[in-house]
Amino acid sequence: MSWESTVPYYQILNREVGRRRGGLHSARVLLLSVDFQEIEILQHEGRWDELGGLLAEESLRLEKAGADFIVLCTNTMHLVAPAIEAAISIPLLHIADATAEKIQTSGFDTVGLLGTRFTMEETFYKGRLEERHGLTVLTPDSLDRDLIHRVIYEELVLGEIREESRAEFQRITEGLAGGGAQGVVLGCTEIGMLMKPGTTSVPLFDTAVIHAEAAAALSLEEEGHAKNDSKDRDSKG
Ligand code: GLU
Repeated sequence: MSWESTVPYYQILNREVGRRRGGLHSARVLLLSVDFQEIEILQHEGRWDELGGLLAEESLRLEKAGADFIVLCTNTMHLVAPAIEAAISIPLLHIADATAEKIQTSGFDTVGLLGTRFTMEETFYKGRLEERHGLTVLTPDSLDRDLIHRVIYEELVLGEIREESRAEFQRITEGLAGGGAQGVVLGCTEIGMLMKPGTTSVPLFDTAVIHAEAAAALSLEEEGHAKNDSKDRDSKG
């Protein structure tokens, strides 16, 4: 969520499975989309227990429908990951873990983080990157955190892309790099609509792309296809 970032997730999942398996292969996906207005109100009223209950219920619905694992297509709502994990018996592919793995593969240990105020300020995300994965995470100052939060909720989740916002995100990203960040985590699944790899010379970690690619890879492992990739491609002749 928002649905604007569900679109790239769905595309990446299918393209990545097609790329790995070849031919006309595509991803087997159960997509459960929520009404983001309800979510946003509960978030800004701080009603996280209710949000945890709501997403736990939706995740259980997916488990009952046959899902092998859950991909929650947002960074912010991982704040309630423990409530979801307590309700289901299949794994939740945590977006911060997939992102940390990618950062470490790139050989970096210090990154900047852009996201909603919840993601930049609460411990569920920054703390996880630092404590579980040993990364150093830098965040923008309070005024810039406000700006980023506002652009996410007033523009990006509505699909609005504004040049002046892109310039601000670029300035903030380069400021974090100037302060020691080797790369910057786009820790909100809509920021990739605004910040593309060429937008700045600072290496960007787009969590929507990283998470969707990790989900595609895991789905193939779950189905036992990972080892057959090259055989599949070869058999196409
Ligand atoms: N998709 C955003 C994120 O990755 C923000 C919207 C939401 O609250 O889910 O955090």
